[in-house]
Amino acid sequence: MTDESTAKTRIVPLLPLRDIIVFPHHVVPLYVGRKKSVNALDQAMSQEKDILLSAQKDPTVSEPTADDIFRVGTVGSIIQLLKLKQDTVKVLMEGKKRAIIKRYIPNDDLFLVEEQPNPSIETEALIRSVKNSFEQYVKLDKKILPEVITTVSSIEEAGRLADTIVTYINLKLYDKQKVLETIDPHERLEVLLGLINAEMEILRMEKKIKTRVKQQMEKTQREYYLQEQKSAIEKELGGDDKTDLKELEEQIKAKKMSPEATEKVEKEFKRLKTMSPMMAEATVVRNYIEWVISLPWYDHTDDKLDITEAERILEEDHFGLKDPKQRILEYLAVQSLVKKLRGPILCFVGPPGVGKTSLAKSIARATARHFVRLSLGGVRDEAEIRGHRRTYIGAMPGKIIQMLKKAKSNNPVFLLDEVDKMSVDFRGDPSAALLEVLDPEQNETFLDHYLDIDYDLSDIMFITTANTLPAIPAPLLDRMEIIRIAGYTEIEKLEIARNFIVPKQTEENGLSAENIRISDLALKHVIRRYTREAGVRNLEREVASICRKIAKEVVRERNEKTPSIQHNVGVKQVGSLLGVPRFRYGRAEEKDEIGITCGLAWTESGGELLLTEVTTMPGKGKLLITGKLGEVMQESAQAAMSYVRSRAELLGLDKNFYQNIDIHVHVPEGAIPKDGPSAGITITTSIISALTRIPIRKDLAMTGEITLRGRILPIGGLKEKSIAAHRAGLKQIIVPKENEKDLKEIPAAIKSRVQFITVEHMDEVLRHALATDQAEAFSTRLRNWPPAPAVPPAAPTVAKESTPDAPASPPATPH
Ligand code: ADP
Repeated sequence: MTDESTAKTRIVPLLPLRDIIVFPHHVVPLYVGRKKSVNALDQAMSQEKDILLSAQKDPTVSEPTADDIFRVGTVGSIIQLLKLKQDTVKVLMEGKKRAIIKRYIPNDDLFLVEEQPNPSIETEALIRSVKNSFEQYVKLDKKILPEVITTVSSIEEAGRLADTIVTYINLKLYDKQKVLETIDPHERLEVLLGLINAEMEILRMEKKIKTRVKQQMEKTQREYYLQEQKSAIEKELGGDDKTDLKELEEQIKAKKMSPEATEKVEKEFKRLKTMSPMMAEATVVRNYIEWVISLPWYDHTDDKLDITEAERILEEDHFGLKDPKQRILEYLAVQSLVKKLRGPILCFVGPPGVGKTSLAKSIARATARHFVRLSLGGVRDEAEIRGHRRTYIGAMPGKIIQMLKKAKSNNPVFLLDEVDKMSVDFRGDPSAALLEVLDPEQNETFLDHYLDIDYDLSDIMFITTANTLPAIPAPLLDRMEIIRIAGYTEIEKLEIARNFIVPKQTEENGLSAENIRISDLALKHVIRRYTREAGVRNLEREVASICRKIAKEVVRERNEKTPSIQHNVGVKQVGSLLGVPRFRYGRAEEKDEIGITCGLAWTESGGELLLTEVTTMPGKGKLLITGKLGEVMQESAQAAMSYVRSRAELLGLDKNFYQNIDIHVHVPEGAIPKDGPSAGITITTSIISALTRIPIRKDLAMTGEITLRGRILPIGGLKEKSIAAHRAGLKQIIVPKENEKDLKEIPAAIKSRVQFITVEHMDEVLRHALATDQAEAFSTRLRNWPPAPAVPPAAPTVAKESTPDAPASPPATPH
């Protein structure tokens, strides 16, 4: 406290001096004796040791009053105080700064005065900071002209400065009054500084808010502008995204889905809302949402399981098929009892066009379920069943989910067509995915890669179809209940055509029974000469073709206003409507021929005739095999040759007959059998016929494999083969003895027309097949021939001799 900085107005004790003036920075000893003065010293000592030293105008006055004392003095600080005797005190004083007595505080014991400080450094500092603040204030408050700063900065006097500035500052009345009332200039400046700073704070705040608001406004404006632009573009493009989104949101709300699906869709929708519809990603998300909400999560049709009604429907839709229908009804009965579909999956196996699909459709009709069909033919990628992950461009759900969308209910009859036509490659095994679809243990939580949400397939009634059994993957086969449909006889085809196909096609082509009538003979002609199939698909196609042509006639008549007549389609009309017949009917050969045997094959499309032709020519014992089946026939042909050579003598042939000739085996037509031709006996018969020049009976067909020693091995697909033989008008079929048990499956209509001859040995075949004048002699010779040295009893030998497609024991499935 030694400098002049303590220049504030304050109350200090006063020491009147008689004949001395103390200046600041002087140290003087003083002797003090007057009562009031000693009290003043005491007071000072008890406070800050500051005391105001001011001279008396008249040193002689002992009891001075305020008027006797000069107004300006010096504030002194007591350095040392010494009490002497007789109440005298000696003090050592140091003058600190000038001071003005502002007023006297009434006090009887001592002089107390209010000191008015001089402008101090502090005031200087205050002036400076006020000027600074004001400058900043002017910068903030743009209403004040900058020149004002120059004016203000020239003012040095604190009071005036405050009074000038205050007029520029935007203050409340109350604050202005406060400034006015503050008499002390230093204090006034202080008050003002506080006010300026507060005001500046407000201005800064305001400015900040303004900028923020401005920025905000700019941003909103920008967005508004862009939005407007966007909707203009969208309008041009023809879509209004906002209403679209709204619609989508409503659809999502309205759709009942699994909790997992709801959650996922809502999340995706939120994402979609934040995206510009122009973004590619938005389309992806939108597609996904649309897929999920389009699925029949809980959309259900009520099951109808009235067996009598189901039977009526099956009968109404299909002719014949007694066995399959019975099996279907049993299956439906069980389903109605167990409620939940847990049992095996039905699998219809048979050639094309035998009604597998239409049976499945009837099941859907009988159970009042929707129907969807998925062809698995050629499916080779697991993703086709289970979908691609969404990260792939253009990803889609798998076919199962796609079909469900089509089904519009979560419990349709779902036909998986051609399960035997799936293939496996590096892209994963589709049958594994299919297994998951069909397995009741797993299909409650089927996970499509695209959806990525579990979907419950357990209410779906899956039905599968296949042309052949061996091609069905074993694990799938395990879960299936096989229902075989072999194919139709000619009579059955006629029935189907008359009662089902013709009425259906008549209607589908916009005709009625009044416009068209197709005679039975005409239908038979179509069956025989325009189709060769186990089913009725081509038959239906041909009938449709007839109907279309008649429809054209009807329309022409209408246009020409000639009265409509009923078009009778007979055999002749068929010729003109369908053109040249495509197939020869009946036995391929018109008369008994040498070297030509009619074999039977079992192919994917049912049974087929397989003519085997053999001719001999001079040569060196070569065996030549040609035709579509060249490769697979090789082994059968070799086995046949070995048998013939072993029987050469018996057959009246020279022992070395084969050394001078070449033998050519040829199979001119027919589809490729599924697995092996089963043509051993056919080739053998043809070779023997060609060598012995004995013709083969034209009305006879045969099927069977042969061992080296002439034993006949069983074959598969007897039913299909006999249908084919019957279709071709053959009278007898030679079949292996071991296939006798299969004869009960042969339709009665066939048995009544075709005779089945069962044989164990090639010798018997020859006896029946060769048409010779010396048949009897030949037979006798054969009969008397010592029994073939060994009909090998043990299986291993047989296996060694047999061709690969002819297992030693009866095969479970046709081969
Ligand atoms: P698949 O599925 O076995 O190839 P479809 O079911 O497609 O054969 O049958 C072909 C056509 O033949 C269908 O129009 C079907 O209605 C008809 N069809 C087949 N079998 C019969 C039958 N037994 N009775 C009536 N129509 C039949």
